[in-house]
Amino acid sequence: MGRYIGPSCRLCRREGMKLFLKGSRCYMAKCPVAERKRSAPGMHGARGRKLSDYGQQLREKQRLKRFYGLQEGQFRLFFERALQKRGVTGESLLQLLEMRLDNIVYRLGFAASRKAARQFVLHRHIKLNGRTVNIPSMQVKPGSKLEVIEADRPLAKAVMETGEARGHQVPVWMILDKDHCAAEILRIPTRDEIAPFVNEQLVVELYKK
Ligand code: SF4
Repeated sequence: MGRYIGPSCRLCRREGMKLFLKGSRCYMAKCPVAERKRSAPGMHGARGRKLSDYGQQLREKQRLKRFYGLQEGQFRLFFERALQKRGVTGESLLQLLEMRLDNIVYRLGFAASRKAARQFVLHRHIKLNGRTVNIPSMQVKPGSKLEVIEADRPLAKAVMETGEARGHQVPVWMILDKDHCAAEILRIPTRDEIAPFVNEQLVVELYKK
């Protein structure tokens, strides 16, 4: 499946918000969204435009998709899965995205960004319930135990320390054992525990058209 290989910062500028796609750099003054280039990229980026309803729905979908580093087809699949779940579809979508293995590795602080977490999983640095895994999109179930393989723990610890220094916090729905680079996933996060940076209802409205 194809991946976006263009500049990450361009995506943040397009969405007008920090999507934290580049690890440490996102917390520095160098971040172009924090500083100068607040406008959307391209020669027409600076023009103010009022978005139609469809435009707003599309923007919210793009934000969410880019935040988790997914392509359209993958994102759509997650939406289809969310539709099949009981409860509020938008909330289920966010929960499915949060429970992806690469996101969990990032949330635990083993990797500096979701992109790095994806590589970390692909290169078999993670064990899930005692087995080495290499599927970043895998859904992690509550009660699962996860650890960095022994050889890679020094690297993961260094990344964790850097993350802590810039204020990274492990969510309350997982427990981390820093010394062993191991964790247990306690439960699925609630909507409030997932950063409410998008209006997921607009994404649902877009796909239900
Ligand atoms: Fe670039 Fe990170 Fe800033 Fe986004 S948040 S613009 S990826 S440095």
